[in-house]
Amino acid sequence: MSLRDRLQEIEGRIENAARKAGRRRDEITLIAVSKVFPAAALIEAYEAGARHFGENYVQEFEGKYPEVKDLPEARFHLIGHLQSNKSRRAAEMFHSIDTVDSGRLAWRLEEHSQPLEVFLEVKLSEEEAKAGVAPAQLGELIESVRACSHLTLRGLMTMPPWSDDAEAARPYFQRLRELAASHGLTGLSMGMSHDFEVAIAEGATHIRIGTALFGPRVKRAT
Ligand SMILES: *Cc1c(COP(=O)(O)O)cnc(C)c1O
Repeated sequence: MSLRDRLQEIEGRIENAARKAGRRRDEITLIAVSKVFPAAALIEAYEAGARHFGENYVQEFEGKYPEVKDLPEARFHLIGHLQSNKSRRAAEMFHSIDTVDSGRLAWRLEEHSQPLEVFLEVKLSEEEAKAGVAPAQLGELIESVRACSHLTLRGLMTMPPWSDDAEAARPYFQRLRELAASHGLTGLSMGMSHDFEVAIAEGATHIRIGTALFGPRVKRAT
């Protein structure tokens, strides 16, 4: 199956999930997660119609950026954890930082005077090694971000604990939706290849799809 066919299949599934949930397709943004794949794969996805791209590592994206930066209307999202020493480069390359989880990072980004959209990453599970702000600290972080004149707060983002059962993610998606509503936020970045239909049913506005679009992220022998 070609990338174009896979994108079309995902499109069909998004439309179905939206219809079932009584939502419009255009309420949902597909972020094509291109980590590990070369710039050529992004360009192929772009030519097939993808416009939003998600990358996890600033350094990895730096290598691809010269080849993709002039694609008209392409929007680049950082969806991996951002270390503050890479914030300047990130602010230059990305349109949206989807993993802001501290006031300190928000201020760092603000200092670069680059207009940026941001999502706040919320930690909803007790699992170790999961980044994100605790729900109890979210109000304070929202205040900090709203005080940053270059940052536009779009909403919340989360990564539920890994499970191959898509239904296992549903309570986390519901929780994120409730949290966003309680803070007056509308953007919800949630749902990946294996659970995006559940996420759409629970109100996702941004879904992040890697494997289903680009294929498995295997290390290839060269
Ligand atoms: C890799 C990644 C994805 C995409 O995951 P797939 O299961 O390949 O669709 C989505 N979100 C984040 C934060 C990721 O790191």
